[in-house]
Amino acid sequence: MSRRLFSSPDYPTIPTSGGGLYPVHRIFCVGRNYVEHAREMGVEVDREAPFYFLKDAQAIVPSGSAIPYPPGTDNFHYEMELVIAVGTPVFRASESQAAAAIWGYGCGLDMTRRDLQLAARAKQRPWDLGKNFEKSAVMAALTPAAVVGTVGPQRITLKVNETIRQDAHLSDLVWSPVEIVVHLSQYYHLAPGDLIYTGTPAGVGPVVAGDRIHGEIDGLAPVDLTVGGAA
Ligand code: MN
Repeated sequence: MSRRLFSSPDYPTIPTSGGGLYPVHRIFCVGRNYVEHAREMGVEVDREAPFYFLKDAQAIVPSGSAIPYPPGTDNFHYEMELVIAVGTPVFRASESQAAAAIWGYGCGLDMTRRDLQLAARAKQRPWDLGKNFEKSAVMAALTPAAVVGTVGPQRITLKVNETIRQDAHLSDLVWSPVEIVVHLSQYYHLAPGDLIYTGTPAGVGPVVAGDRIHGEIDGLAPVDLTVGGAA
């Protein structure tokens, strides 16, 4: 019997409104899922199909944390997002199977090194340096889908130091949560522990050391983050 050469980390967990902990295995993120945000990024939404990038599960940081300003960037951005939590295994889902597979929802921040993302985009390279780095996936507590009800009328907002920067409604999503799960499950065996960040509305922007970020979606626990000095 071979022994492990070093101890492997446990999956990070997120609190839920019922008190249980939700272990995070994978983090999928949808790109360009609000028309006005795509426009502010100088691109148009692709209405043929959503596209994705991933973050490591270990990028999870709980709401209420203070994180260091990350290395390698001069343009660290917030992105306020609705996050889907998958609750049952699902593959090649129909709409009803996709809906049944959604355990719940939470408020998340897809923290982004925008300068690195845009440099990669310009060279048609992957976005990992801009998107997938330590403490880049902020998560608040999850609320069961049955409690949330219909996704659409809820307002989604983000403030930096009490100034509102993002303000939209979930009905502005180009691809709904069910449509995203239907599509993504054509390519992956989705399973409990999979989070899906569904994209951000218009109004993204930079933060600096000392800034306090507060994001809200009606009916969900808010997400909070403080940006510290350089690591
Ligand atoms: Mn995003």
